[in-house]
Formats: sequence, C-alpha cells, structure tokens
Amino acid sequence: MLGRLRTLILTDDPGQALRMSRHLAALFAIMMFTLASIYFANSDLLKETKIQLLDLNLIFWAGLLLITLIIRSGLNQRLRDPSMTMVQMVWCSLYILTLVYLLNTWRSIAIMPYFGILSFGYFKLNFKEFLAITAFSVIGYASVIIYIYVNEPLRIHFDKELVQLLGFTMTCMVMVYTGSAVNKLRIGFRERNEQLAEALRLNTRLATTDDLTGLYTRRYLINMLSNQKALSEREDSDFVILFADLDHFKRINDGYGHYIGDVVLKNFADIIQKSIREVDYGSRFGGEEFVVLLVKTDIEQARKVAERIRYGLEHFNFSDVAPGLHVTVSIGLANYKQFKSIQETLMTADNRMYKAKEQGRNRIVFD
Ligand code: GH3
Ligand code: MG
Ligand code: MG
Repeated sequence: MLGRLRTLILTDDPGQALRMSRHLAALFAIMMFTLASIYFANSDLLKETKIQLLDLNLIFWAGLLLITLIIRSGLNQRLRDPSMTMVQMVWCSLYILTLVYLLNTWRSIAIMPYFGILSFGYFKLNFKEFLAITAFSVIGYASVIIYIYVNEPLRIHFDKELVQLLGFTMTCMVMVYTGSAVNKLRIGFRERNEQLAEALRLNTRLATTDDLTGLYTRRYLINMLSNQKALSEREDSDFVILFADLDHFKRINDGYGHYIGDVVLKNFADIIQKSIREVDYGSRFGGEEFVVLLVKTDIEQARKVAERIRYGLEHFNFSDVAPGLHVTVSIGLANYKQFKSIQETLMTADNRMYKAKEQGRNRIVFD
C-alpha cells in the first residue's frame, strides 16, 4: 500500500524518484515560508501593497507546481539538466526576494531560506553554476535593498542592511567554496565507482573465462554443473560430461616448443566451440584437459559431438605454424542420469578418457 503510493508519487525509475523526492523536499521547505507569509499578511511586518500577498503566493506556487508536473511526467528528461536544479533555485530565489521586498523589518530573516536553497546545489551544480546562482542571490538581495533605499527610504535602516548584506555575502562565499569541494568529492566518487565497476567486470571475466582459449574456467563449469543437476532433476532431463585430453601433448611441447603447444590448445578450443551448441558449456579444465557440459543430451547424441571434436582435431591442418604436426585427442563420456552425482559422472568421464588412452588414443569411450 505504502509502496504503491510511493511509486505513484515518485515513479519506478530510481533516477526520476530521486529528482522527484528532492523537488518535494524543496516544496515542503518553501511551504513553511508561504504559511508564515500568510500568517503575517495582516501584521505591520509586511508592506501594504496593491497586489495581494495571496496572489503573489499563487503565482509562485503555480510555477513550482508546473515544475512538479514537468518532473513527474518525465518531460524533464529531455532537458540538459533533468533535475532542473538551476530553474528551481532561481524560481525559489525570486520568491524569497519578493518576500525580502515586502518585509518592513527583520528582512534578513528571509536570507536564511537562501542557505537552504543553495544547499540543494550541492547535489548537482559544478563550480561555475554554483558561483552563478550565489551571485544571483547576493546581487538580487543587494538590488532589492538599494531599490527600497532609493524609493522607500522610510522602510529601511540602510546601515543595518549593509552589515547584513556583508554577512550574507561572506557566508555565500564560504558556501561556494564548500560547494565546489563537495562537487569535487562527488566527481571523485563517481570516477572511483566507475573504476570499481570496471574492475568487477574484469574480475568476473577472469574468473569465468580462460585467457588462452576463451573457454570457460574449471570453476565456472563446476558451477554450471550444479545448475544442470538441479535442472535435470526438475525437468527429468539428462546431460553428458565430455572429458578430453590431448594425446602426447608433452611431445608436442618438446618437439615444437611451448608456443606451438599454446597454438594447438587455442585451435582445439575453437574446434570444441564449433562442435557444440550455444547452450552447451566448453571449458578448459586444466593444462591440456577440456571438459564439455552437453545440456539436455543423451549418450548417443553426445557421441556424435565427441566424434566431431575428435575428427576435427585429427584432420586439423597445422602446416602454416608447424609443418608435419598432427594432433589427436582421447575422449571419455558419461551421462548424469546413470550416476546421479556430479562427482561420480565427472570421475567416470575421466576414467573413460584414460581407457581411451589405454586402447591406443585418438578415440572415444562411452561405456
Ligand atoms: P597423454 O597422451 O598420456 O595425455 O600424454 P601427454 O603428453 O599429453 O601427458 P600429460 O597429460 O601428462 O601432459 C600434459 C602436458 O601439457 C604437460 C604440460 O607441460 C603441458 N601443458 C599444460 N598446460 C600447458 C599450457 O598452457 N601450454 C602448453 N604449451 N603446454 C601445457
Ligand atoms: Mg593431461
Ligand atoms: Mg595429454
């Protein structure tokens, strides 16, 4: 119930919700001054004017509610600054300046909301914008004071006002300084967040993909295996583990060098990728051992995939990097349903791979 009301007022979009809640906070603060101005409307605190105070309040609130509508409707997202910070600050400043003009005494009390208004700039404004809005406030305030002094001198103690203006200006300068410091912090935080996100992406990639072959890592494959176990139990489907170990790989390293050994590993990984479907998981399990998880597959289908891999490597032409090089692979297969345990299935596939080695290599063993 509360959540739905929240969504209704603030919208679902987190960015928009933040803008809306800041805007509403500003409205709430301004409302205090409106109420106070209405309360004191008939006292001698405020100047008698031809234009009614109520009308003034209506004009300013119409502007504020227009901003509310623009933000709530999403129209603000087409603007350069979707939070409309400057617009809101200038509009509220004008409102306060009007009250400053109307006050007969205690004019400086209207300065206080200025600090509230300026503090909203901490969230969004850069140094120049912050300086501009502060200058607007100070110059606006000074202009009103001078205007009253020139046109209605009876309503003002100029010396006192000057001292207040000085205090106001100095405090504003401090705010510009702290505001720009906050702005720098904000930019620093954002940059650091982006760096962290990038580091996290890199970390995830390193943890899931093998650098040399581009296949998944052993760790990722183990995770996928337990996913598949849960899935196969729910859907009553089967999956097959394919265990492949390159034949006499040490000889290749010794005869052609480690670099060529790496080239062989990379090419074998490509053969695996081309032989399996998108949904399957090919991994480099360690050194020159590869494990493939064949999803929703039975032993018969898996045998065909394994044969494609075995045949693909046996007939792969390495002549442009290592003339005369021929590589073969021994493969063991095991299906999950027969063993009902990942560990057992993996071990069986491994054992069958060894059996393939014993039987003369370059072959597939599946029972
Ligand atoms: P078998 O047919 O019995 O499997 O013989 P084998 O020579 O392949 O035997 P074994 O599996 O013991 O040898 C694996 C070799 O793979 C040992 C190691 O030097 C080499 N190796 C492991 N990782 C890498 C790698 O990243 N790059 C290269 N070039 N060689 C590697
Ligand atoms: Mg090995
Ligand atoms: Mg080997």
